Amino acid sequence: MALLVLKFGGTSVADVDRIRNAASHVKREVDAGHACAVVVSAMAGHTNQLVALVEQAWGFKERRKQNGAEVSAQYDGSEYDAVVSSGEQVTSGLLALVLQSLGMRARSWQGWQIPLKTDSAHRAARITGVAVDELKARMLEGEVAVVAGFQGIAPGNRISTLGRGGSDTSAVALAAALSADRCDIYTDVDGVYTTDPRVVPKAHRLDKISYEEMLEMASQGAKVLQTRSVELAMQKGVRVLVRSSFEPADLGGKGTDAAEGLGTLVCHEDEIVEQNVVSGIAYARDEAKVTLLKIADKPGVAAQVFCPLAEANINVDMIVQNVSDDGRHTDLTFTVQSADLDRALEVLRKAKESIGYLDLRGSTDIAKVSAIGVGMRSHAGVAAQMFSALAEKGINIEAISTSEIKISVLIDAAYAELAVRTLHSLFGLDSR
Ligand code: ADP
Ligand code: ASP
Ligand code: MG
Repeated sequence: MALLVLKFGGTSVADVDRIRNAASHVKREVDAGHACAVVVSAMAGHTNQLVALVEQAWGFKERRKQNGAEVSAQYDGSEYDAVVSSGEQVTSGLLALVLQSLGMRARSWQGWQIPLKTDSAHRAARITGVAVDELKARMLEGEVAVVAGFQGIAPGNRISTLGRGGSDTSAVALAAALSADRCDIYTDVDGVYTTDPRVVPKAHRLDKISYEEMLEMASQGAKVLQTRSVELAMQKGVRVLVRSSFEPADLGGKGTDAAEGLGTLVCHEDEIVEQNVVSGIAYARDEAKVTLLKIADKPGVAAQVFCPLAEANINVDMIVQNVSDDGRHTDLTFTVQSADLDRALEVLRKAKESIGYLDLRGSTDIAKVSAIGVGMRSHAGVAAQMFSALAEKGINIEAISTSEIKISVLIDAAYAELAVRTLHSLFGLDSR
């Protein structure tokens, strides 16, 4: 018997028929003798609807028009969480009912009932602990635990949520707390691809990907797994298998562990035999560019720009500072999440006097494209190859950032897909 966590994303529980389909995957594992916890997302689109209701209730658009950006996201995060967490409550109850109707013992668990504890950073809370004693005891007696993903309980007894896509993190955290043998992430693609298969039809599925590469892929925009879930899986050594809920549930009377060639295993690098220099290409369109023109070129200016942003909890990603022409002034460009752009501009406008700049500009017409691969550690010249290929297509690079296993470039959003396809071919990833 193995202890398994199965997670079903929004499209896999989009309606009651899909929930029945998810249940047949659960039944297969239960019949194979495994103890199962199942984590569910809200029905596809439901969380977006709930977010829209929150914004409507807060008068988001009207306030923006009246007051500029200042109030843009200032609504009470704990009430946002109370509303948007409800989608998962629905699907957890429905799946428990379907499992019961198929003759299995099952019950639903909300975050607060487990409890899955988080900090109080509402809307993007971090998990601080998962108490699984009762849940595990019941699982071992044959009851399927159906857990509402995405939600937890914050100090002060308030419902919290883990950021968009957070059910992946619920599943991995639960798997870690249960010391589960595996965490199976069921989604609408049959694994992790060399790039988003919706953008590049020639992308191919990877049998295995290392935690580190998956972490870079996720954080650079591949939304197949939430970044935090990969971080946690890497830290706790949770084996994560990404696979499709739309493949036949029947595996000839056996569980997933007995089947070969299913999905993508996210695992330690040393389990992977064959390795390309570049394993995948990721892209993100949700960043925005901020440029400060003519700031003083002297010590302390960067701190004056970035400290107030940090205080406002705004994360900065890429940063470029131009070489000064006259030795006195320079331009500074950096990126933030698009959702934070209005707030970032506001913070910088308020700090105009202390920073001292001529003009401030913000734009969302940008995309970040990244090549990722652990092979870069031992191969020189990847960046040069990448820049030449983009230049040949006439794609201008506005900023660059690198890590040991990643190179990212910031480009005009209009060229995002071309850049992804170009790099996918360049690094030999197109399926043959
Ligand atoms: P779920 O609702 O199951 O959590 P998501 O929509 O969050 O599913 O994630 C799955 C989607 O991630 C796929 O439909 C695919 O378009 C996208 N995706 C982006 N990059 C990749 C990649 N490298 N491999 C697989 N899927 C990817
Ligand atoms: N339902 C939440 C969302 O749409 C969490 C998830 O699907 O993982 O972001
Ligand atoms: Mg997801």
